[in-house]
Amino acid sequence: MRPSERTIELLRTLVSFDTTSRHSNLPAIEFVRDQLSALGVASEIVWHEQDRKANLYASIGVGRNANTDPWSVSGGIALSAHTDVVPVEGQHWATDPWTMTEVDGRLYGRGTADMKGFLAVVLAALPRFVEAELTTPLHLVCSPDEEVGCVGVLPLLAELERRDARPAVAIVGEPTSMQVVRAHKGHYAFRGRVTGVEAHSSAAPRAVNAVEYAARIVTRIAEIARRKADGGPFDERYPVAHTTLHTGVLEGGTAFNIVPRHARFEFEIRTVAGDSHEELFGEIESFAFGELLPEMRSVYPEAAIEFEVLSATRGLDTAPEEAVIEEAQALVRDLGPGGLGQVSYATEAGLFQAAGIPAVVCGPGSIEQAHGPNEYIELDQLARAERFMDRLLERVTR
Ligand SMILES: [Zn+2]
Repeated sequence: MRPSERTIELLRTLVSFDTTSRHSNLPAIEFVRDQLSALGVASEIVWHEQDRKANLYASIGVGRNANTDPWSVSGGIALSAHTDVVPVEGQHWATDPWTMTEVDGRLYGRGTADMKGFLAVVLAALPRFVEAELTTPLHLVCSPDEEVGCVGVLPLLAELERRDARPAVAIVGEPTSMQVVRAHKGHYAFRGRVTGVEAHSSAAPRAVNAVEYAARIVTRIAEIARRKADGGPFDERYPVAHTTLHTGVLEGGTAFNIVPRHARFEFEIRTVAGDSHEELFGEIESFAFGELLPEMRSVYPEAAIEFEVLSATRGLDTAPEEAVIEEAQALVRDLGPGGLGQVSYATEAGLFQAAGIPAVVCGPGSIEQAHGPNEYIELDQLARAERFMDRLLERVTR
């Protein structure tokens, strides 16, 4: 199946904006806002970073009421898409990543699968939603800074909460090949910095060895990881059924005969439902601050251990009996592989759930093509997402 030319053109434009997370996402947001205002749909901007990183929020209310103040509409179905993409640097692309190129039923370009394809399909369908008389409101969420720890959508979710304008459910259109995904692990990443004091290695006992203290924290992280693997909790739907912890970076020191002053390490925690990252991180912190730091400071009062949060994406665990699941499954019935999925990558859906908005992940394209070079989406996947929008239109006008 082939999607409409309109969807393809919209996607071509969206791909042409280099919205790599380190850049502004405003070109994409302004484009979406123009599309909406041409239809008479008002949209609100909620900044994640003033004048640089924006959320866009728009609503089509019930009745013949396109130009609705989005904050005045609670309930309804929200469709959510992040506008940022991962970098292309260091990747070998056969085509220009910012010029969408069609080859053999596939559209190549950065963000085609993750997740501008979904956004293009939604934008192409919107005129019909505006013309129809809705009985259930429809909302559009476009967020920044998803690819850097899902942090960009947080100010918008806070605003919805503050104004008591929460949608009833959210569908996050990340690429799942149109399968309804109800669960993923939480993902939290941290950087630790240890500051000791240098000395010639012959005087080691009078110094504070930053690398050794960092290594003790890393060892504690590995011990907790083993405990989780042995004792759970377990969620057998995941290929790795328990919470995992691991250290990915450990650096420090300059030479074997100098007691090192600095060390740095980075670690992550991926939680299953039933495990709290606060508790696990708290355990690491209290070991560092309660046991190690006093020992370090007895030698050198300025010794320090610091932690910084690099990424905090809540897990998603929407209960099978939540209405959003049946709703989403009805919309995709024969469009995807069927069944209920769980995935190992993190999305914004867990944040919606935490904000009191039951959510699922469901969108066109495959996560296997996301993030790598030569990212593509199949034309057939976009066409399937268009069928999904047709059914959604029936659903919200019923
Ligand atoms: Zn994504």
